[in-house]
Amino acid sequence: MADPMELLRCERDSHVTEHLQDDSVPTETSAEQKKVENNISALFSAYKKNQGKIQLVLERESHAHYLRKGLRYLSDSYECLDSSRPWICYWIVHSMALLDELIPESLASDVCQFLIHCQDPNGGFCGGPGQQPHLAPTFAAVNALCTIGTDETFDVINREKLLAFLWSLKQADGSFTMHIGGEVDVRSAYCAASVASLTNIMTSELFDGTAEWIARCQNWEGGIGGVPGMEAHGGYTFCGLAALVILQRVQLLDLRSLLRWVTCRQMRFEGGFQGRCNKLVDGCYSFWQGGLLPLLHRTLHAEGDSAISLGNWMFDEQALQEYILLCCQCPSGGLLDKPGKSRDFYHTCYCLSGLSIAQHFGSGDILHEVIVGVAENRLQPTHPVYNIGPDKVAQAVVHFMKKAVPETPNSSKN
Ligand SMILES: [Zn+2]
Repeated sequence: MADPMELLRCERDSHVTEHLQDDSVPTETSAEQKKVENNISALFSAYKKNQGKIQLVLERESHAHYLRKGLRYLSDSYECLDSSRPWICYWIVHSMALLDELIPESLASDVCQFLIHCQDPNGGFCGGPGQQPHLAPTFAAVNALCTIGTDETFDVINREKLLAFLWSLKQADGSFTMHIGGEVDVRSAYCAASVASLTNIMTSELFDGTAEWIARCQNWEGGIGGVPGMEAHGGYTFCGLAALVILQRVQLLDLRSLLRWVTCRQMRFEGGFQGRCNKLVDGCYSFWQGGLLPLLHRTLHAEGDSAISLGNWMFDEQALQEYILLCCQCPSGGLLDKPGKSRDFYHTCYCLSGLSIAQHFGSGDILHEVIVGVAENRLQPTHPVYNIGPDKVAQAVVHFMKKAVPETPNSSKN
């Protein structure tokens, strides 16, 4: 039987420059896809025509300026994110860390003071001061605090209360709700595993049944849906796989089928990733999908999978970098979904995170970098499980390992 990896590569190579084939059955979806391809083909052809003469440049200064300003001032358009304020802190500080931009001490301290006001007295972080504690801003706040990474920021996190908050969300089937009385999905399992492992409050009882529940969310497509039986989606797939890496239970998944699903999400013409089958390319999936590859690669390689060697990579890291550099940069700073869309801090964070993954893991080996364009495009590496710097992960783990794991709260014992 033919090697499936070889088939995958041939499939991509033979279509690499091709536009969508709609088999003469135009639909709303195919019309949208063609519109996107037309929008970006002008950018691509100018680049291809001048290849060798012009180099792709990451506009670092403009992006850094946009990010610095965002820590002090947000426009009216951010009003709708009033319950995601720790996220804005995380998107900005992580993006600045990727760009190797120092956050001035006073600004870092202000971020820290703001996040103190977002922590709920009963544990976990809220979307803003006085709001309800929720796992998503809890993940964002812990990541922002670990990225700044000073004793002041580590001490903000009330670990005993955080553990009690996680227990209050735990369900009998192993899943977690996003907040008390809230919805269950794979995001919550990942957010819980991420913050618990970074702050050393992880216990096997807390995650009893969680890995098995996540594995039930992998569907026939190969990717992972929000809950069992739902359509596979890049964001949920990242959360599911990264959580299973933390819980050391990756083998519960069909990894070959997941590998096939994610590599087929890299768009033939655009080079970026789509979030789901038949959807449009979007810069933020550079991380949600791109971040899966180092995790899958490492696991399959460790298992001795013959098709996976360190020099035998499974996605086109060059095409992804070209998409981000050519199509996702706003000239006045910040990055975006696709040409024609507006910049925002979310897309700035995840485009840069995906670019970093493609630069540092593109060869399947963190020591061998692949930088498209000028050498100054090089970003700092990001940890593909937590999406903060690997040095920041190490620093947090070392800091919290010195502290004892808090007792399981009495209300959770039965
Ligand atoms: Zn997006």
